[in-house]
Amino acid sequence: KALVGELSSFSRSGIYRLPGVVNAAFVDPVRLLNFSYSRYRVSASGYYCRTFDSPGKGRKTNKEVNDSSRSKNKRKRSRSHDLNEQEIIAERRHQEVRPLLLKAHEALSGTAELLGFLPTLVRDEESCLDGGGLEQNFVELGGLWQAPLYEIVLCTEENTNEWQEQGLQHEESSGSTVAPLFNNLINNNTTNDVDAEFVNRRFVLPRQCSFHMSDLRQIHDLIPGSSDQGFNLIVIDPPWENGSAYQKAVYPTLPNRYFLYLPIRQLAHTDGALVALWMTNRGKLRSFVENELFPSWGVTDIRTIYWLKIKPDGSLLGDLDLIHHKPYEYLLLGYVNGKKVVPDCNQNLEENQIFISIPGAYSRKPPLAKLLVDNIPGPKPSRCIELFARELIAEWTSWGNEPLRFQDLTYFVKR
Ligand code: SAM
Repeated sequence: KALVGELSSFSRSGIYRLPGVVNAAFVDPVRLLNFSYSRYRVSASGYYCRTFDSPGKGRKTNKEVNDSSRSKNKRKRSRSHDLNEQEIIAERRHQEVRPLLLKAHEALSGTAELLGFLPTLVRDEESCLDGGGLEQNFVELGGLWQAPLYEIVLCTEENTNEWQEQGLQHEESSGSTVAPLFNNLINNNTTNDVDAEFVNRRFVLPRQCSFHMSDLRQIHDLIPGSSDQGFNLIVIDPPWENGSAYQKAVYPTLPNRYFLYLPIRQLAHTDGALVALWMTNRGKLRSFVENELFPSWGVTDIRTIYWLKIKPDGSLLGDLDLIHHKPYEYLLLGYVNGKKVVPDCNQNLEENQIFISIPGAYSRKPPLAKLLVDNIPGPKPSRCIELFARELIAEWTSWGNEPLRFQDLTYFVKR
C-alpha cells in the first residue's frame, strides 16, 4: 500500500514529527543510518535483534515473579528512605519531565498510521549479509602486543565489484590500500561505500568517513593542527561506570575522572562547537557533569534532549517510574567557544526536546545529528566527530577502541 502524508515522509527521512506536541518526534535509527550508504543498507533485523517481551509470551517463572516483587519492594524502600540528596534532585527532575514524556508517548499511541507501521521497522525483507564466524573483538586485539602490526585492507571504489566477486582473502593490489588498523587515522576519501578486510572479515566504510581506533591515551592524536580545522559537533557517549554487571560484559568502562582529560576545547572549532553528551539517569553523574566535567571542557548554555524507548508494539520499554532502569535516557547539550555567534546557527537550542525510538541491540544509541543540524555553529558543511563510537557515519570522524564494531558486513544488506 502506498504511504501518504507524514508516514510517507517518515519512510524517507526516518523522522516522524508527533502531532500536537512541540519538539517531539519518533525516529527510526536504521533509516537515519542509511543516509550514510549507497551500495549497502543497514539491516533492520541486525540493528533491532534484541528480544522484546510481548504480551502472553515468555510468561515469568515463579522465581522471576519473586525476584521482581523483591526488587519492586526494594525500589519502594529506596523511594521512601534511601534516596540521597542527588537522587532526590534526579527524582524531582524526573517528576518535571514525566508529563512531557507521557504527552509525547500519548501522541505516538494516538497516531494509528505510525503504530501500525512500527512492527515493519524491525525486520528486513532480505536476510543479512553473512559475515561468517565470530565477530572481531577490537577492544581485546587493540590491547595485544601485536596491535601495532595489524593492518586493514581498503578496497578502493574502482575495483569494488571485482573484489566482491573474489570474496575474502584479498591480496594487496593496485586497487587497494593497506594501513595499520590501530592508532592510525583511516579515511575513506571516496564518495561511495568502500569495502575493507581485516583478518578474514569484511567491513563497510561509508563515504568520506574517518576513524581512529585507539585507547583514550592516544586521543590527542585527533587534535587538529589548526583550530579552524576543529569540529563543530562533538557527540560523546562515554563508557560511564554504572555498577551493572551486564554492562561490564558489553564493553569496558572508565572512572568519571578520566573524562576530565578529554581534549574537548582543543577538538572544538574556533567558530564554536555543539557538544552532545549521553548521560545515564544516576543523580551522582549529573552533578559530576554540571559541576566538574562541563566547566573543565568549557561547555555552557546547557540543554536536555530525552530519548524515550518503546517496544515494536508502541508500549513503553518499561515502567516510567523505576529509579534506575527508566525507559528513557537523555543527552546534555551545550556550546564550546560559542561566543562568536554565527548568523545561520540557532544557538537557542530548545529545552526538553523528546525523541522516541525502538532501541537497537547492544545498547546502541540512535544517531541524532539530523535533528541537531540547525543548532551546529561554524562553517558548513559541519565537521562532526563522535567519541567512543562503535559505528561510522558518512563525512564524520569516529574515535574509540572499537569504531568498526557495527561496520561488520553482518549488519548490512545489499541495496
Ligand atoms: N555510542 C556507542 C553506540 O551507540 O554504539 C556506544 C558507546 S559505549 C557507551 C562506550 C564505548 O567506549 C565502548 O565501545 C567501549 O569499548 C569504549 N571504551 C571503553 N574504554 C575505552 C578506552 N579506554 N578508550 C577508548 N574507548 C573506550
